[in-house]
Amino acid sequence: MAYDNQNIFAKILREEIPCIKVYEDELTLAFMDIMPQADGHTLVIPKVEAETLFELPATHYEACFTTMQKVGNALKKAFSTEGIMMFQLSGSDAGQTVPHLHFHLVPTSIHTLRTRKHAAEMADQAVLQGFAERIIAALD
Ligand code: 5GP
Repeated sequence: MAYDNQNIFAKILREEIPCIKVYEDELTLAFMDIMPQADGHTLVIPKVEAETLFELPATHYEACFTTMQKVGNALKKAFSTEGIMMFQLSGSDAGQTVPHLHFHLVPTSIHTLRTRKHAAEMADQAVLQGFAERIIAALD
């Protein structure tokens, strides 16, 4: 299927709508999920028109994983956990709701942190901003 350049993450990349950014480089952007499944839930997206993992050009493989590692390490520090749940839904049959490739990074601990339902409840923007500041401060 053709890439829909009106999807919400394409608009975020074009800065037509805002996001709470935690990290950006030439090939990737990381920002807070507005309906987080746990505190600190962050999304990493490539700056390329790719709907699912299967359209991601090889030029962006390394950048995506480097950014996931960088942000994941910051999440571990900022939320005092060794556990980061990472997932990626490719295709609406898999439950993908935004048709621009994104990787979910969710701080998790089976002992203390509980995860909430997927894309279910909008978080307070000020609270998300506070989490973003903690993550940015923990970036190497
Ligand atoms: P998917 O279901 O496609 O794997 O995940 C889409 C994610 O994007 C969900 O976790 C949802 O909460 C998040 N999301 C949906 N719309 C927006 C938005 O406008 N801004 C941000 N920051 N996250 C969004």
